[in-house]
Amino acid sequence: MNDMSRVPAPSHFPHSATDTQDWSVEAVVALYELPFNDLLLRAQQIHRENFPDADVELATLLSIKTGGCPEDCAYCPQAARYHTGVVAGKLIPLEEVVAAAKAAKQNGATRFCMGAAWREPKEREVEKVETMISAVKSLGLETCATLGMLKEEQAQRLKQAGLDYYNHNLDSSPDFYPEIITTRDYQDRLDTIKNVRQAGLKVCCGGIVGMGESRLQRAGLIAQLASLDPYPESVPINHLVQVPGTPLDGATPLDPLEFVRTIAVARITMPTARVRLSAGRQDFSEAVQALCFMAGANSIFYGEKLLTACNQEAAADRALLAKLGLKTCGAGDATGCGDCSSATHA
Ligand code: SF4
Repeated sequence: MNDMSRVPAPSHFPHSATDTQDWSVEAVVALYELPFNDLLLRAQQIHRENFPDADVELATLLSIKTGGCPEDCAYCPQAARYHTGVVAGKLIPLEEVVAAAKAAKQNGATRFCMGAAWREPKEREVEKVETMISAVKSLGLETCATLGMLKEEQAQRLKQAGLDYYNHNLDSSPDFYPEIITTRDYQDRLDTIKNVRQAGLKVCCGGIVGMGESRLQRAGLIAQLASLDPYPESVPINHLVQVPGTPLDGATPLDPLEFVRTIAVARITMPTARVRLSAGRQDFSEAVQALCFMAGANSIFYGEKLLTACNQEAAADRALLAKLGLKTCGAGDATGCGDCSSATHA
């Protein structure tokens, strides 16, 4: 049974980034429990009010340091402790980053994201990433990075180097979180997001669903994200990619329609955010992805790889967008404007 009395009336929904409000888990659950079509209608209305062009961002992501991570995120093939076949590498050379960024720009990219599998960057690593950020920025691209936990002083340095966005996901609700990660706590994540905000960077922050959490816990994640003040500019919603060797391999798959509901609830609670279909999109049919766009998703990862998780072929993405008549933001038909909402990094 739906308890409509618990759902805020549409006029009470936040309609801009400055309308951030505290969302209770109960209010978010009430959204989840709306009849599917009612939920999608509300989400689409709010989406169109805030994104009249209804365009879709296409995100590109480069792994600048793969694998060998000391953390124990149960979904992640880059954690050194799991035997997943991911070969740990070193930080890639600046020239490779620049070449990839140039290629992305040539394909119409407006933003370029760099991801490194670290618990947190060390001093010398920050210096190297600063150089990469400056080089990418000088190409005329927006920049973003996901490097693990960040101190405020480090965030300021990256900002000065030309960083626009920083990605750091909350991953799950606070109560489910200890079942997924034990090597850092939820407050560490909130602290990094605070440090990033203090430095004047834009925030890309989302989570992963399909890890065995309940609907209540999915609502708990969305309530946390929507209650950040302000809520993130970009909200990647990942669908667990099950990787053999990780503890979450074999988890019960999430009903695709529950994923669509999650997108809709994110859109309603964070009206001006770019809600991104991130890792795991390849598990969904075109019809489910179309429903996600209807529910208010307006950004996707584009290309063949999301750090280490396979993504759909770029050509298939372009064909789907064309089939749906969806415009992409930026120039060209192969735009890559992406926040660094990595598939597998925190
Ligand atoms: S998600 Fe990020 S922090 Fe966690 S194990 Fe993977 S690379 Fe490390």
